[in-house]
Amino acid sequence: MPSLQKDIKFLPGVGPKRAELLNKELGIFTYKDLLYYFPYKYVDRSQFFKISEITAQMSHIQIKGKITNFQIQGAKYKQRLNATFSDETGSIELVWFKGIKWIQKSLKVGKHYVVFGKPILFGRQFSIAHPEVEPIESINTSHQGLHGQYSLTEKLKNGYINSKTIFKFQQNIFQEIDGKLDETLPEYIIGKNNLLSLNKALAYAHLPPNQQELKKALFRLKFEELFFIQLNILSQRIKLKREMKGFVFEKVGDYFNNFYKQNLKFELTGAQKRVMKEIRKDLGSGKHMNRLLQGDVGSGKTLVALMTMLIAIDNGYQTCLMAPTEILATQHYYTIVNFLEGLKLPVRLLTGSTKKAERTKIHEGLQNGEIKILIGTHALIEDQVNFKNLGLSIIDEQHRFGVVQRAKLWKKNTNPPHVLVMTATPIPRTLAMTLYGDLDVSVINELPPGRKPIKTSHHYDSKRLRMFGFIREQIAQGRQVYIVYPLIKESEKFDYKDLEDGFESISRAFPLPDYRVSVVHGKMKPEEKEAAMQEFKKGFTHILIATSVIEVGVDVPNANVIVIESAERFGLSQLHQLRGRVGRGQHQSYCILMTSYKLTNEARKRMETMVATNDGFEIAEADLKLRGPGDLEGTQQSGIAFDLKVSNIAKDGQIITFVRDLAENILEEDPQLENEKNILLRQYLQNEKRGKLDWSRIS
Ligand code: ADP
Ligand code: MG
Repeated sequence: MPSLQKDIKFLPGVGPKRAELLNKELGIFTYKDLLYYFPYKYVDRSQFFKISEITAQMSHIQIKGKITNFQIQGAKYKQRLNATFSDETGSIELVWFKGIKWIQKSLKVGKHYVVFGKPILFGRQFSIAHPEVEPIESINTSHQGLHGQYSLTEKLKNGYINSKTIFKFQQNIFQEIDGKLDETLPEYIIGKNNLLSLNKALAYAHLPPNQQELKKALFRLKFEELFFIQLNILSQRIKLKREMKGFVFEKVGDYFNNFYKQNLKFELTGAQKRVMKEIRKDLGSGKHMNRLLQGDVGSGKTLVALMTMLIAIDNGYQTCLMAPTEILATQHYYTIVNFLEGLKLPVRLLTGSTKKAERTKIHEGLQNGEIKILIGTHALIEDQVNFKNLGLSIIDEQHRFGVVQRAKLWKKNTNPPHVLVMTATPIPRTLAMTLYGDLDVSVINELPPGRKPIKTSHHYDSKRLRMFGFIREQIAQGRQVYIVYPLIKESEKFDYKDLEDGFESISRAFPLPDYRVSVVHGKMKPEEKEAAMQEFKKGFTHILIATSVIEVGVDVPNANVIVIESAERFGLSQLHQLRGRVGRGQHQSYCILMTSYKLTNEARKRMETMVATNDGFEIAEADLKLRGPGDLEGTQQSGIAFDLKVSNIAKDGQIITFVRDLAENILEEDPQLENEKNILLRQYLQNEKRGKLDWSRIS
């Protein structure tokens, strides 16, 4: 078998200089890397146009004709070469800015050529810059079927590597391997699913004979790519489950029972009960729990977290809850202290701004086992924080933490504590399978009873005065209001100015003494932030002006209006998170999205989606479609390299679900892949493990 690990510089036609370009610009180092660099689109090269048929809407065209003259224009360093190219219906212009001498030497006036490229209209004349030009005789060999277009960078183009060059390189590889690539999928999988062979699929992906074969080729390649991701994740998960013992929390004791009977003022929702059952099953099983708890904003995850902690404490263990921001950690702290009133359970808060003396006391209390519940930010994974016997770690808003932090929490006890990860940003199922494939998933898909759906509307800035009027009405009825301004790191100064201006105009529209306004933003000291939050929480201030620091978790049931300024600058999931700050009490709540008139199509879609639905899962799906998985929060930190070569998590959901089931079935039957028929799969995973260690290439 020809080795696909061969350095790309040895491929005929490449050489060291172009190899370096391919390395740097496209991350292509080996034959394999190149073979798996697929076209981003395909052009039908069996079709020819007459020059008179060209329209400005055509993306690429192919015409037959001859060059009737050449002309060099412009001063020395800005020279360009123009050629007039004609057929019997008219003429267009061909233009080159580079390689002029060489082009002029190799092309002849009067000779017949095939020209391919993107036509652009200048005045009334069409022109093609840097077209592909080939002698008419080549039509029979290289102009059948669909031709792939490869995406390129400026540097590649400057180094004379264009789409056609890449295509030629690909063909050189195919010549060398001569259809003898080893199959990666077992016979039985290929047969049962009617897949093309790897050799064919790769060949057709680069040079498809027709649309139908192209489809089959891409299906086979996506199938394989996604299948191996799932197989990898699932087999790791099986291994972890086999190897890791979990603490057994066998009983439900006084803390839990007293809380449930005396302190809990409402019925659990059906979904909360179901999830508690799932969690209790994990905790009693002797296996290590590693569970993701998904639930829309306001679905009552905190309560589930607290009850899980109480079970751990009843069994003699300590627990901790980690949140991504100080505001959120503080809020959890107060919520939990409130819930636990009268139960005499020591709860402490540890954040970056905890004072030295208090910190020392906390460290002691954790080490001697007195503190049963520790709530905090990243501060609680620091090395100085040591527990006597940590049995359960809960992480809120997982998308802000990475796998690394999760692992650090595991290490806080010799035997890793159970882990419950909570996220309020619902993740589309197919993405969750891939991102959190190592976690079991519980979903709270029900809101507590009596919640009125939030009414969301979208307005242009010209409606600001009416919006103010609405806010006055609500405040007159005793309600409170959030007004949120964007804060994006890159332009903090600018955003801060937005907030300042906003504050001024709000203060003018809502003057003292009738109205009281607080401000919270990222540049404030934690104490100041906390003070402003408390003023609002206690109902002393009517309006809270904030940057998106309030995005997660803040819970003030009396606040029923949230105005989001420059809403077009927020992503969908962020908007949904912000909206979740209201709708927490018995009053009808409102989310008002303010934007300028100028909106991109994508931004308009975001506003429409927000107005159309309150369902976090629907929003997550829409978000995935609009942005693609690469930009979704969590994908970067997930630890799974997300460089899919052919598949698209947003579009290939069906294939993902299918291969997930397939991988699950295979591993159920043959967990270690020892079966003869699965030998290729075992080899793949072993290679994968070895490959992971090879980070040297990644600069
Ligand atoms: P999440 O963290 O999922 O966004 P929270 O745990 O903050 O949601 O819950 C939102 C609000 O609903 C809180 O005020 C909480 O006390 C309340 N709540 C939770 N569960 C119930 C329930 N079963 N019935 C009524 N209210 C509930
Ligand atoms: Mg919450």
